[in-house]
Amino acid sequence: MSADLSIEGHPEVFVIGDLAAAQSDGKVVPGVAPAATQGGQHVASCIDADLAGTSRSMFRYKDKGSMATIGRSKAVAYLGPKLQFGGYFAWLVWWVVHIMTLIDFRSKASAMANWGWQYLTGQRVARLITGRSSGHTNV
Ligand SMILES: Cc1cc2nc3c(=O)[nH]c(=O)nc-3n(C[C@H](O)[C@H](O)[C@H](O)COP(=O)(O)OP(=O)(O)OC[C@H]3O[C@@H](n4cnc5c(N)ncnc54)[C@H](O)[C@@H]3O)c2cc1C
Repeated sequence: MSADLSIEGHPEVFVIGDLAAAQSDGKVVPGVAPAATQGGQHVASCIDADLAGTSRSMFRYKDKGSMATIGRSKAVAYLGPKLQFGGYFAWLVWWVVHIMTLIDFRSKASAMANWGWQYLTGQRVARLITGRSSGHTNV
């Protein structure tokens, strides 16, 4: 794939997000939501450039750090070598950042309602299949 996120030989076709095997500064771009949104913004800028008759820029992924929930009310956050934290505070930051980055009020309200329900009922939206136990399928 080309550095502007289009397919080699097909400058009119772009691939972004989880489908893209993109590289930025020689490193593989991770399959995370910020990479997908940054890819979308980049492609919009490429289309603007095409319409204006100017040249496209190369895609550059800006890594803003990583956060992950690791259990009920617990998360870890890595925002650079000097800013790493975990526990309840990291979970609150994870929650606020994810709500803030959703695109409109409807999505924010829907996510908050879903997460609130899952938190209160202890339900999980994703489960990992880590092996096969005897007698039944592990899901
Ligand atoms: C369990 C889980 C947890 C994750 N947690 C995080 C996290 O905490 N932070 C983070 O940054 N990233 C996280 N990710 C990764 C993140 O979700 C993806 O990197 C991101 O959603 C990729 O965006 P996308 O637009 O490429 O694909 P998607 O978000 O998957 O969007 C693709 C869309 O296309 C639709 N679609 C598919 N086929 C068709 C079709 N034929 N016609 C029309 N529509 C179609 C799908 O319904 C979907 O809405 C997580 C992923 C998973 C699975």
